[in-house]
Amino acid sequence: MADSKFVYFFGGNRTEGKNSMKDLLGGKGANLAEMANLGIPVPPGFTITTEVCVQYLKGKEYPKGLIEQVDSAIEKLEGIVGKKFGDDNNPLLVSVRSGARASMPGMMDTVLNLGLNDRSVLGLAKNTGNPRFAFDSYRRFLAMFGDVVLGIGHDKFEHVLSEKKQSLNIIQDTDLDVNALKELVEQFKTIIERETGEKFPQDARKQLMMAIEAVFQSWNNQRAITYRKLNNIPAGWGTAVNVQAMVYGNMGETSGTGVAFTRDPGTGEKRFFGEYLINAQGEDVVAGIRTPNPISTLKEAMPAAFRQLEEIYVKLENHFRDMQDIEFTIEQGKLYMLQTRNGKRTAAAAIKIAADMVAEGLIDKKTALLRIEPNQIDKLLHPMIDPNATLQVVASGLPASPGAAVGQVVFTAEHAEKMAESGAKVILVRTETSPEDIGGMNAAEGILTVRGGMTSHAAVVARGMGKPCVAGCDAISIDIKKGVFSTGSCTINEGDHISIDGSTGHVIVGKVPLITPEVSEELRTVLQWADEVRTLGVRTNADTPYDATVARDFGAEGIGLCRTEHMFFGDDRIPVVREMIMAESGTARRSALAKLLPMQKEDFVGIFRAMEGYPVTIRLLDPPLHEFLPDHEEALKKLMELESKGAPEHEIDRVKKIMDRIEFLQEINPMLGFRGCRLGVVYPEIYEMQVQAIIEAACELTKEGMNIVPEIMIPLISHVKELQLVKKQVVKIASDVMAEKDVKINYRIGTMIELPRAVLTADKIAREAEFFSFGTNDLTQTTFGFSRDDAGKFLPFYIEQSILEHDPFAVLDQSGVGELIKIGIDKGRSTRHDLKIGLCGEHGGEPSSVIFGHKVGLNYVSCSPFRVPVARMAAAHAALQEEEMNKK
Ligand code: PEP
Ligand code: MG
Repeated sequence: MADSKFVYFFGGNRTEGKNSMKDLLGGKGANLAEMANLGIPVPPGFTITTEVCVQYLKGKEYPKGLIEQVDSAIEKLEGIVGKKFGDDNNPLLVSVRSGARASMPGMMDTVLNLGLNDRSVLGLAKNTGNPRFAFDSYRRFLAMFGDVVLGIGHDKFEHVLSEKKQSLNIIQDTDLDVNALKELVEQFKTIIERETGEKFPQDARKQLMMAIEAVFQSWNNQRAITYRKLNNIPAGWGTAVNVQAMVYGNMGETSGTGVAFTRDPGTGEKRFFGEYLINAQGEDVVAGIRTPNPISTLKEAMPAAFRQLEEIYVKLENHFRDMQDIEFTIEQGKLYMLQTRNGKRTAAAAIKIAADMVAEGLIDKKTALLRIEPNQIDKLLHPMIDPNATLQVVASGLPASPGAAVGQVVFTAEHAEKMAESGAKVILVRTETSPEDIGGMNAAEGILTVRGGMTSHAAVVARGMGKPCVAGCDAISIDIKKGVFSTGSCTINEGDHISIDGSTGHVIVGKVPLITPEVSEELRTVLQWADEVRTLGVRTNADTPYDATVARDFGAEGIGLCRTEHMFFGDDRIPVVREMIMAESGTARRSALAKLLPMQKEDFVGIFRAMEGYPVTIRLLDPPLHEFLPDHEEALKKLMELESKGAPEHEIDRVKKIMDRIEFLQEINPMLGFRGCRLGVVYPEIYEMQVQAIIEAACELTKEGMNIVPEIMIPLISHVKELQLVKKQVVKIASDVMAEKDVKINYRIGTMIELPRAVLTADKIAREAEFFSFGTNDLTQTTFGFSRDDAGKFLPFYIEQSILEHDPFAVLDQSGVGELIKIGIDKGRSTRHDLKIGLCGEHGGEPSSVIFGHKVGLNYVSCSPFRVPVARMAAAHAALQEEEMNKK
């Protein structure tokens, strides 16, 4: 049987791969092949498939036939380039790079200039007539090979390089002369021998095999694992390896290298956007070691190459019909493309690009919608600096990732993670970031770096994460030992508060006030498209007229959950609520409740008005009553205070009574205790007051001519008889009020489904309930038996040990809680076919949970106002995914 194909060649009219082979060739390999197919100049090379990686990582063995296929690809390459791999006089040099299915910028390792050794460096010097270039390439190769393949820390090489520059009193690497570079080569080889106990391998083929192995292994390095976790990339995919003939951006003033985007990745504006460096290799741009020039200046520096680059980027964008992130190198005036991929972009840019491309006729609305990650929208609705605030701007850098952040200064990623864990908000301040910092960047509110451009690691990663970032802020200097950073005018200590504005590049002393931005026109447009395709309703969880108004503006189609207990906490209310709880008789309780009635009614009037025409689901009181009483310790302190100052007897008695009541109401397990409809069963007068307030408010507004649709929701039902009992009271009060006011309200009575018993008896419950709303917070709590309040102590371990993939209180556990939801829906609709069913736990604004809700046949989800646009987009994705499935 013939060996399988493990190696795919590209370039030189021999391209074997194409864009659609990403799973096998990785994103980089597939797109290099596609560019070659399009006639775009790419240095020739070959891709070793992801399958080889997966197989190698399993058993540390290559599949049979791989080595032969690599050797024959190298031979082909030699033929095209006209150089020989491992040759002393005319050496073929290659780059070895990783390339997974999904792009993982900076997460994996790369080796450039592979094939050089003590002899071939002389051949390269002779052939190019440029010994400086040859030794510059060699010292770079030694450092990269040492770091990536041999596992010697990059800083060891950096340190020697910095010392060399200092001793020669020069700043730029490009100022190192050939002698200095030769010395560095010797020093680097000594480092390698010292650190590994072996001499640097001089054999090119050995170098290649070692580098390929290192790239495969880098799939499992810590930063790649972290990146995969953060971006939900399966560990089983593996990476491809791309081996490609080297081209040089470091061959003098007519050479250079750059990174560019076909549109502005920060704003989405349609303009060529990027940076380049003259006389440099690719990693210099990305690493942010030198500050690069804006791409527009390349027009003057190298007009012909720039013109060609413009033609290519337009061709690529039209071909891929998406914004491209490209890497190029100019070798002595000749342009080569090294990479193209769909560019990462901020949320704002994603929306603008999607909307613009529809207007330009490049893509249709459905494609545009699917290009917008629902969670990205959330980032757009995040705070910006209040324009009216007075700011003490102490430094300015590049506006690398928009949005504003406030936090305490920390200087290491580790510290950032620790502080964030303890609940602090931090800004990570670094000279430059590296992939090792990923955890700290994720934990920080924002990132500030001294060095690096718009495509530096910090900038790219922060944009991907949707975190504000100011990069290249060279007006500040950091002294980690002293724990300070200083600008010309001031010194800021670790732990001090600063604010950064990633949209302007400003660094500001202290905490600035932040505001939520307006929804852009483009966002409104794409959300409208989302509404055109989605079938799942989106409501909001809101308990004030203000929240209801905000949510309606964000597109909410009603309220799915109004938690009435939130209305009991106002300063003017809490004393009356406490009076009601302290009451020893039904009559006393009623008299306290009578004082609450007008306040509740006023709340409902406001909310109904804000949501006029849409249904408003009001949940009757749910939490245990002790939540409204003072803390036991606080009361005890008060008692001791009164006693020690000899306060009058009646005052002491009053506090003692409160303490008795607190003790009486105290529960070992309040979340499973005296709450929900159990309150309504024991103290019917509480629900009576609430129903009276709801219906009176509805009558009042109906009389004004408004269309009010109240839905009264009974919480925490476990047995149909609870519902029957409470429902009877509700119906009675509602009828009495309507008769008295002489108004007919079309109200509905329904229940929350939050307990497994309610799910399992949903057919019976549906006979009484006109609607269901899954309370997935409690349903998750009671299905897992995880306390909502205490799970934080152990859930991180569950996720770390991969027992659970996500926190089930944030992302719906589809296989457990989700199964219950399905049963509840089926049973509920078996006895009431037109049963309206919603979901109002935290999951109502989480995209994967919303998509699940669509699939299982919910009528709507309900979430906090700011997540309404996210849910609208997720619901559209759900509908489009279903459409795709049906086509298949
Ligand atoms: C729920 O349990 O999902 C719910 C929405 O109610 P609460 O969070 O108020 O308990
Ligand atoms: Mg609940």
